[in-house]
Amino acid sequence: MNYISTRGIAQSASFCEILLEGLAADGGLAVPQSCPRVSDAELEIWRYLSYPELAFEIMRKFVSDIGPRDLRALAIATYQESVFGSREITPLTTLEPGLHLLRLSFGPSLAFKDIAMQWLGHLFQYVLETQKRELTILGATSGDTGSAAEYALRGKKSVRVFMLSPFGKMSAFQTAQMYSIEDPNIFNIAIHGVFDDAQDIVKAVNADVAFKLRHHIGSVNSINWARIVAQVVYYFKGYFAASESNRQQVSFAIPSGNFGNIYAGHMARKMGLPIAQLVCATNENDVLHEFFQKGRYRVRTTAQTLKTSSPSMDISKASNFERFVFDLFDGDSNEVVKLWACLGQDGAFDLSQTPQFKGLRERFGVVSCSSTHTDRISTIRAVKAQYGIVVDPHTADGIKGALQYIQKDVPMVALETALPAKFADTIQEALGTLPDRPARFAGIENRPQRYDELPASAAHVMTYISQHSPGA
Ligand SMILES: *Cc1c(COP(=O)(O)O)cnc(C)c1O
Repeated sequence: MNYISTRGIAQSASFCEILLEGLAADGGLAVPQSCPRVSDAELEIWRYLSYPELAFEIMRKFVSDIGPRDLRALAIATYQESVFGSREITPLTTLEPGLHLLRLSFGPSLAFKDIAMQWLGHLFQYVLETQKRELTILGATSGDTGSAAEYALRGKKSVRVFMLSPFGKMSAFQTAQMYSIEDPNIFNIAIHGVFDDAQDIVKAVNADVAFKLRHHIGSVNSINWARIVAQVVYYFKGYFAASESNRQQVSFAIPSGNFGNIYAGHMARKMGLPIAQLVCATNENDVLHEFFQKGRYRVRTTAQTLKTSSPSMDISKASNFERFVFDLFDGDSNEVVKLWACLGQDGAFDLSQTPQFKGLRERFGVVSCSSTHTDRISTIRAVKAQYGIVVDPHTADGIKGALQYIQKDVPMVALETALPAKFADTIQEALGTLPDRPARFAGIENRPQRYDELPASAAHVMTYISQHSPGA
């Protein structure tokens, strides 16, 4: 399996070659040259596989430059009961007949990002050891991504992590989750600024090509292709858990921000998994909902991006969306180049009058919705009252979409993307009580914290990285 760029100019590359790169050389995103297909016979066998075995079967269709024996060992090392809390890894909870919750958040940092990030951790270590290379991960986080990355890469040989976070701007729990990690290969840098300052610094450091090469700088952000592959797996798992036979169709509702999670669902459907609808659920930052409703994709500025109570979905543009548009135009990269040029110039493009947009819902099954803070609070209350389960605010946005689009005789699976423990304030507001917290996080706010404060300056961060690298 080879990978090409959505912009059509960069040379094709193998999985391991794109694993450590961000954008392709032509500014596009890596996509598989052809979509792997799953046959009816395979699907029949896959229904009975354990999570790690299923993960291996799916991954091997996307990864041809790691031997099957090693790839299988990596899947088994990653998807362990001791790490994800159950043998199923992503267990399904039935709320009522036909309506289910796929629990993706029992991993180390209590968000669905662990599922992909944990695999990346094992994969990086394997690839770096094989190639005798070192890697410096540089990232910016407003919460979930940073902690999932740190939990996945802590203690890994040949990898150092420098994670920038806005000083004093994250919840006490999220701050403690990251800053209490003691492994010497993890560096928490608390920036005197906001998240966008941190992100700008990451961009500035990456723009210094000599520095980037010298320090082997890579990223684990949401456009990382390996993350998408790992996320395809739980759509199959969820499908099998919610259906009785492979003749049935199942729908999924996905709390969406950068379009990574739902894009994995789109891949699963394209591979041949019988998915009826993919519900793209957004919050007040409804860039994606606007597109799927009206055909117009209009990115927002930082100032237009609202701070909401489902903060991991507060995005101004959806970084994986380009991959979907590439498919919408049947892999015509000229079309993608044109549209993204338009986006660069006008901040928007409009497909409302195209046959591609008009046929989108029927061809791809994607529908959408958006939620407000009030919706979120009432969904959290209703789910608690009717089913006795406390869901986090992001999951609540997904459940609202699930209820809006549920069809008779088609099981609907809402994805749980984080545990409520991470968002205590909103739960307190909705239910008047604090959410439960897994025992391993008891009193985490009181543990010693390890971080360094730096001004919001790329030069300071580069000096810091140099001083904390081998040979310094
Ligand atoms: C990252 C995240 C999302 C959004 O996922 P995308 O892949 O960016 O669309 C939703 N919910 C939670 C809790 C997240 O951490």
